[in-house]
Amino acid sequence: MTVPTSQPLDASKLEINLTSTPRDVPIPGSKTASGCTDHMIVADWTAEEGWATPQLLPYGPMEMMPSASVLHYSTSCFEGLKLYRGHDGNLRLFRPEANCARLLRSTQRISLPDFDPNQVHQLIRKLCEIDGPRWLSKDYPGKFLYIRPTVIGTDSSLGFHVPRSARLFIIICCWPTIQSTADSGMRLTVSQEGSVRAWPGGTGATKVGANYGPTLQPHGKATSAGFNQVLWVFGKDHQVTESGSSNFFVVWETTDGRVEIITCPLENDLILPGITRQSILALLRDRLNVETPALVDSVKPVTVVERAYTMGEIQAAERENRLLGAFAVGTAYFVTPVSYIDYHGEDIHVPVGRVPYVELLQEWLSDIKYGRVESEWTEVVEEVKN
Ligand SMILES: *Cc1c(COP(=O)(O)O)cnc(C)c1O
Repeated sequence: MTVPTSQPLDASKLEINLTSTPRDVPIPGSKTASGCTDHMIVADWTAEEGWATPQLLPYGPMEMMPSASVLHYSTSCFEGLKLYRGHDGNLRLFRPEANCARLLRSTQRISLPDFDPNQVHQLIRKLCEIDGPRWLSKDYPGKFLYIRPTVIGTDSSLGFHVPRSARLFIIICCWPTIQSTADSGMRLTVSQEGSVRAWPGGTGATKVGANYGPTLQPHGKATSAGFNQVLWVFGKDHQVTESGSSNFFVVWETTDGRVEIITCPLENDLILPGITRQSILALLRDRLNVETPALVDSVKPVTVVERAYTMGEIQAAERENRLLGAFAVGTAYFVTPVSYIDYHGEDIHVPVGRVPYVELLQEWLSDIKYGRVESEWTEVVEEVKN
């Protein structure tokens, strides 16, 4: 009798089954650009056999039993990254290995199966190679598609246990341009007492589906009241954590006259360790460090701080005219300034454009993502003609 061996996920075995009915491609970034590209990648896993051969298939519905684990116990996690069409004509990914490593951490947090993140990275590349050329053609430099790798528990036995079957899938979505307040700044409302996004020992530091469904209700209330996002605070002292599904930064002058850019630390698992957040911290420390000669003339160097800080400190800074700006960052919404915070009925007006840091960060990051400058954070995706 042969003992079945548990197969690892192997991107090199990918079986490709192209669609015979390619769909019309919407203009990238247009108001009507929605839906997904022609193909998706699917890989199934079972406890007995391990990972099956990954498949590239026409995009379409998936079958699962109504008793599937993901539909009852939120055994789902995901990633979000973009495929960028560069100004030099090339397609690029930005730090995809970081997304794949984070997907594994999320997967482990909800007891879904392990994989080698590099294999997921190769699968993402493969899907981009095949759908990128047509869905994000060279005619649209400066535009992007959104990639959503996902892992779900498909075990249909309904009992409360670790899933014995799972599925990894990768889809690519078109992203419509939404008329946004990005330039004039977002309006945020501070989360209410008794409404918490994440807590120590919880799952806030992973991209598991269970974090997002429950925040839709406060988010919906906030948007109907005219706000863009909820600013999530934690604890009796209202520590500032994240805004919506983005990391959050404040720029202020300290009482001794330095410029400080502050964001919530990663300790306690209260926030998602964003790749944009990490990149911004690295760029600021590298290029605007107070200890080294500034790489940018005429811009005041900054001290970058990751520590717990409170709404009270933001209020004090506003009162003392030391509040210089605030911004939200993430793959989806890039680097977006904030102009107003409703703090439980009290107004906090946040200046937009008073200091140049938001604009600088936007410029630095888009230069990297769209290939205006070489960077070890990006990789070019080869294009397959089909
Ligand atoms: C995805 C996400 C972010 C941003 O992470 P990036 O890696 O920069 O895209 C921030 N906060 C939450 C809650 C998120 O889900």
